[in-house]
Amino acid sequence: MTSLCFTGGTAILPDRTVEDAIVICRDGKITYVGQSKNRIPKSAETIDAKGGWISPGFVDIHVHGGGGSDFMDGSLEAVQQSCRTHARHGTTTLFPTTSTGSPKQIRAMLDATIRAQQSWTAQNGAAIGGVHLYGPFFAKDKVGCHKDSGCRHPTAKEFESYFESGIVKVATCAAELPGAAAFYRHAHRKGCLVTCGHSNSTWSEMDAAFKNGMRHVDHFWCAMSTVPSIRKRLGVPMQGSMLEYVLGNPEMSTEVIADGIHLSPELLRFAWQLKTARRLCLVTDCNRALDMPPGKYRFGPQQNGSWFTSDGKVGWASEDSLASSVSGMAHMVRHMHQATKIPLADVVRMASLTPAERVGMDTRIGSLQPGKQADIVVLSPRLKVRHVFLRGTRYENLKHR
Ligand SMILES: [Zn+2]
Ligand SMILES: [Zn+2]
Repeated sequence: MTSLCFTGGTAILPDRTVEDAIVICRDGKITYVGQSKNRIPKSAETIDAKGGWISPGFVDIHVHGGGGSDFMDGSLEAVQQSCRTHARHGTTTLFPTTSTGSPKQIRAMLDATIRAQQSWTAQNGAAIGGVHLYGPFFAKDKVGCHKDSGCRHPTAKEFESYFESGIVKVATCAAELPGAAAFYRHAHRKGCLVTCGHSNSTWSEMDAAFKNGMRHVDHFWCAMSTVPSIRKRLGVPMQGSMLEYVLGNPEMSTEVIADGIHLSPELLRFAWQLKTARRLCLVTDCNRALDMPPGKYRFGPQQNGSWFTSDGKVGWASEDSLASSVSGMAHMVRHMHQATKIPLADVVRMASLTPAERVGMDTRIGSLQPGKQADIVVLSPRLKVRHVFLRGTRYENLKHR
């Protein structure tokens, strides 16, 4: 493999930006990041960022699909279609996310994902870091746009078979469900990022979950408990909720959907201020309507997922209830930076190194650092995706269809 050299732009590092940077890669790995032009090998293929940004590829730990496909469709084609679509938006590693479905549907999704991971080449788009086992262990009163008939309590018999597959790397369960403690302990032993989501749990339920290895909460402010929602569940005295627990415990991380429709700029900025870029991830939580015309689509399996409408900006389950995003990660990065004025190094960290750290992959991916995979995205000055490289190979499929 020849050497690659990125020039003519500003490199985005986890804690700062480097103007007029040189990023050199060989054999699919980054070998140099700095400003010294005499480090450029003569034979290197040069990629001119033309005054834009040289960014690490994005890492998305919560994503349901794109390009018309949902990972829960359960076929190799659906998995690959979603991965190709997200690569166009700068994502180089993603974690296909399950929704509430039957054990058979979840099993089919795991199998298809394993096949896609094994047969991956750069032209397949975003690489699969592992599966996010998300549904079905949700609380019925916080089910959101998922099919509530698919919600159930975790039983060892069911979840152990999913972890057996070896591909589950992020694992969600609502903390108040019977069986949650055993789920968390099992997922923690398997080395997963253990998370609580679609939950109406109290501070004390969160604290018990934390002792069992839970460290993350899915899409902050969405489908999670608040003091009033717990008062409704358990009466007085009012108790702390997931919100206070995450803000009060410095070890806890969380994620935001920064599409500009789910959360206002002040909430996005507030989450960053209180959790810092080391404990806040950007996720797309994107459904199959990414890069598709407005219309009616299924959330989850094509066969029997719940219907939602995409207006081209977001998904709606009903008139006033959101059904996840229809945007890729570059949009989230752009909005997070432009609407909140959070420094770009922090914004990009939240879309790359922080999620990589939370899932334990940061020695290989997540930043422009010698020794890491050459997963690199060149962005225009206004943060639009111009080039994508996956492990040092150019992704040729940037234009949609
Ligand atoms: Zn959700
Ligand atoms: Zn989701």
